[in-house]
Amino acid sequence: MILPVDIFLYADRLPASVSVEEVAERLRGYFPHAQISPRGEFILHHVAALSETENPKSEIRNRKSDDAGRREKVLEELARELAGIRVRDPEKDASFTEPAYGEIQYEKRRITNTSIQARGVLYDGFELARILGRLIPKEERTPHHVHIVLTNQLFGTWGDDLRYHYRVSVYSIPSLISTTGVVEAPAKPREFYLEKQQLAAIGLKDGSLEALKQKYAGQFIDYDDERMTEIVFGYALQAVVYAATGNPFCPDPTCRFFDAHHQSDLIRAQLQGDKFCENHRRLLHRLAMTWSGER
Ligand SMILES: [Zn+2]
Repeated sequence: MILPVDIFLYADRLPASVSVEEVAERLRGYFPHAQISPRGEFILHHVAALSETENPKSEIRNRKSDDAGRREKVLEELARELAGIRVRDPEKDASFTEPAYGEIQYEKRRITNTSIQARGVLYDGFELARILGRLIPKEERTPHHVHIVLTNQLFGTWGDDLRYHYRVSVYSIPSLISTTGVVEAPAKPREFYLEKQQLAAIGLKDGSLEALKQKYAGQFIDYDDERMTEIVFGYALQAVVYAATGNPFCPDPTCRFFDAHHQSDLIRAQLQGDKFCENHRRLLHRLAMTWSGER
């Protein structure tokens, strides 16, 4: 077991329903001896930090423009890479193509302008984590540092059934947790999709989708759901345990570490209070205790 002692929470364009401070506070309750630090946007944080790196070759008077040039170069490269991991065809593995100039420019604008939302774009989750992970400086790249990116970006991973699936989370360095994924990844009740199809067949009218959502209210999580922070916290807990043990999941459907594929499973696992199976209850206890011994 590895003991993560520094946990960084990044907030990338989250909906107003999510409070990063509250997620941090909930984590502190479980890991009272770890340092839990909310940071802003992942890319902006790490690209801004580049300027703090000394460049011994440059004269002091030139350092400022050197830093700006370096940041610009990194942003350009990031934009190209992000545009390159868009999933073009969810039925094909690695359907990436060389991105168009406009797509790269769009990514660059989106990185630097936090009011632009990535609607309708699906990224490969593991590729996204790999690209972001390279921005983490060496001194924060140890097993004791946990980086968790909370984002509204939609990503998916290639499944055994030979197609991409939307995902709530990808556990890696950094780990990614998507609020859009919470809404879109676990399946809604079958009847909801059937009725939605019927509505689409007769032509969707204003408000009819809202009315349908109302009918199934409580059976799935929607974008402005006030319980989103609590759900995000549950997945952040999984990310910390992944960092400590290499395994974020649990087969017990009532445990908060359950890997939910249906909305009803997500609601049961994440929103019934802090319920854990016996194994995870002990593991969390052990982590908290060992932590206090280490510090
Ligand atoms: Zn469990």
